[in-house]
Amino acid sequence: MAGFGWRVGSKLQRWGRSCLRSFSSAVIPSHLENVGFIGLGNMGSHMARNLVMAGYKVTVHDINENSMKKFADDGIPTKQSPLEISETSDVVITMLPSSSHVLDVYNGSNGLLRGGGPLRPWLYIDSSTVDPQTSRNISTTISRCHLKEKRGYAEKPMILDAPVSGGVPAAEAGKLTFMVGGLEETYIAAKPLLLSMGKKTIYCGGAGNGSAAKICNNMAMAISMLGVSEAFALGQNLGIKASTLTDIFNCSSARCWSSDTYNPVPGVMEGVPSSRNYNGGFTSKLMAKDLDLAMASATGVGFKCPMGSEALETYRKLCEDGSELKDFSCAFRHCYAGKDEE
Ligand code: NAD
Repeated sequence: MAGFGWRVGSKLQRWGRSCLRSFSSAVIPSHLENVGFIGLGNMGSHMARNLVMAGYKVTVHDINENSMKKFADDGIPTKQSPLEISETSDVVITMLPSSSHVLDVYNGSNGLLRGGGPLRPWLYIDSSTVDPQTSRNISTTISRCHLKEKRGYAEKPMILDAPVSGGVPAAEAGKLTFMVGGLEETYIAAKPLLLSMGKKTIYCGGAGNGSAAKICNNMAMAISMLGVSEAFALGQNLGIKASTLTDIFNCSSARCWSSDTYNPVPGVMEGVPSSRNYNGGFTSKLMAKDLDLAMASATGVGFKCPMGSEALETYRKLCEDGSELKDFSCAFRHCYAGKDEE
């Protein structure tokens, strides 16, 4: 704890609790008021808008000018670089595709930490899905930085890795789940902000543990999606309709998210990517990336994940075959019922 420079641990805890009280009475704690948001893609655009709606003073940045224009048109301030975001924010949230983008935004020539000088933001939250080691490395870098202006509750800048689950619909509805790694007191202090974008936050332990939880979750999700797809394909080959098999799964031991919420077989459920030619949703490319992170992390600790490794091969192949921008549930059609149609 000392390394992070909290003056008094319990002081921040008290402050965090008072933040929660303030939040419940719809008053935004002043320490969280000015939020810089970087990465206005499928997820980040909704998350940033939910913060605006909750009353935070949000400033945004993305390398994509079109994404920024949509915010500028709505009167939300935009900045041309992460450095400029850093200069006006108390808290900076990043929601970027992968580790290399996050490292670029933090350490790049116009990055959040440019020059290693004193920083205005006291809190950084990375919600991108990255490998735990990247989160830990950035956390170490931040712990060596200083604040431009010391605050009553923190003497040094803090960082949380806070990846999400729930996908684009949950991002839009403000119902994400955040898996958070970092100092627990920082997590408590950040909770009101996270709950403006989500419905649940889970503290996972020290720096990088949020990222570790996320890649484990997504590895399990990929494996279960492939398992369910294979079982539906076998059922169809044995003469059982996927809708019938779904009814059975969903009241039997095979029930899972891939069968009851995100069914991969076209025509079985409405409103899911399989019902719209696997468009929208969570792309196969991102799933391949997350499996890659999981396998690299497993190798890093000398652990073998044979099913995860098999799932990675399947998703790599699927991307090579042109389905990288299709939702990851397209594995059903790609692997068992022919290639995706455009
Ligand atoms: P996305 O590709 O739609 O958005 C990423 C945004 O980051 C883009 O607007 C891009 O222009 C911007 N960007 C890239 N490099 C940048 C840079 N150097 N500086 C500023 N902006 C930059 O991705 P997404 O679907 O919003 O996902 C974001 C993260 O959330 C990923 O790590 C993903 O794995 C994770 N995630 C996605 C989903 C989902 O369903 N899409 C669900 C959970 C988690």
